[in-house]
Amino acid sequence: MTPLTDLLMRRIAATGPVTLADYMAECLLHPAHGYYATRDPFGAGGDFTTAPEISQMFGEMLGLFLAQVWMDQGRPAPFTLAEPGPGRGTLMADILRATAKVPGFHDAARVHLIEASATLREAQRDRLAAHAVTWADSIAALPEAPLFLVANEFFDALPIRQFQRDSAGWREVQVAQDGQRLTFALGAPAPLSALDHRLADTRPGDVVELCPAAAPMIGEIARRIARHGGTALIIDYGDWRSLGDTLQALKAHLPVDPLSHSGEADLTAHVDFEALARAATGVAHTNLTPQGVFLERLGITARAQALAGALSGTALENHIAAHRRLTHPQEMGTLFKTIALSPKGSAPPPGFTP
Ligand code: SAH
Repeated sequence: MTPLTDLLMRRIAATGPVTLADYMAECLLHPAHGYYATRDPFGAGGDFTTAPEISQMFGEMLGLFLAQVWMDQGRPAPFTLAEPGPGRGTLMADILRATAKVPGFHDAARVHLIEASATLREAQRDRLAAHAVTWADSIAALPEAPLFLVANEFFDALPIRQFQRDSAGWREVQVAQDGQRLTFALGAPAPLSALDHRLADTRPGDVVELCPAAAPMIGEIARRIARHGGTALIIDYGDWRSLGDTLQALKAHLPVDPLSHSGEADLTAHVDFEALARAATGVAHTNLTPQGVFLERLGITARAQALAGALSGTALENHIAAHRRLTHPQEMGTLFKTIALSPKGSAPPPGFTP
């Protein structure tokens, strides 16, 4: 039993079952025992690997994307260059390196990172030591200014609630206690207006997920873009409209039971991009586009070939494997999707079709 399981068992014994969102929030961000609060989870020695940790090309493509949309919108200055959930800071470091020669971009950019974990803030501070960076606790704390924002594998880390369709409404999936272990249980059936739009495409027994924290965050992003200009690029795994249980726990790169390693395994759920788009009021959203297609359109293969020229042996093999991993449909290319939010009436940003 992990220290956090022990705490949760006592809490459930005293006050009853908790929602899955409460459970996820404790597992990920409990100040003493939470997964992100206590460790750097990335890379070969950690639990999972993200796109910016696979290759510098990912951040380079996103940097060029940001520079292009910034120029297309008339080079507003100053502007907020923001990233929620920046992990080790690798993506932002690559974005800043790739944009260093874009005239005026660095002078105008105010870099803001939204990070909940003190451990990862330290890693970001080290990684971005050459740049002036401001940390914020929430998207709501970002300045009122043009906002250019990237979020990679951030929304999948936000706690979700799960509901099972019942003929009379929805039963919430809860985390309860069974002897010496945690177990899933179902609450009493109840109607839920937030899921009215899912009554038509689900049947009794189906599970749907809601991410309560996502809509207010997207609302804050969209409001700034509508008022001041800018663009938000969101990349994550998931699809347009969620169906089924997508909660996943990863430990040492392998799936584990989500209730058995509380605070010691990463917990994520697929992102429901339709829900993000619905929350983005006052701005335009692009088509949901597979990551592989998006990166190809931005020119990742030409960049990969240019970098390959200086490589040989194992380094070249690793580089080719990294390109494949980011773009190939059987790797991250199709599972991961991207959507962008921009001011109403503007042309779709690079990498997206009308
Ligand atoms: N974008 C990075 C890291 C993804 S992991 C990459 O691609 O490598 C998720 C990140 O979101 C971590 O940095 C984690 O600490 C942070 N995070 C999770 N929940 C958060 C919250 N509610 N507020 C701010 N940051 C959060």
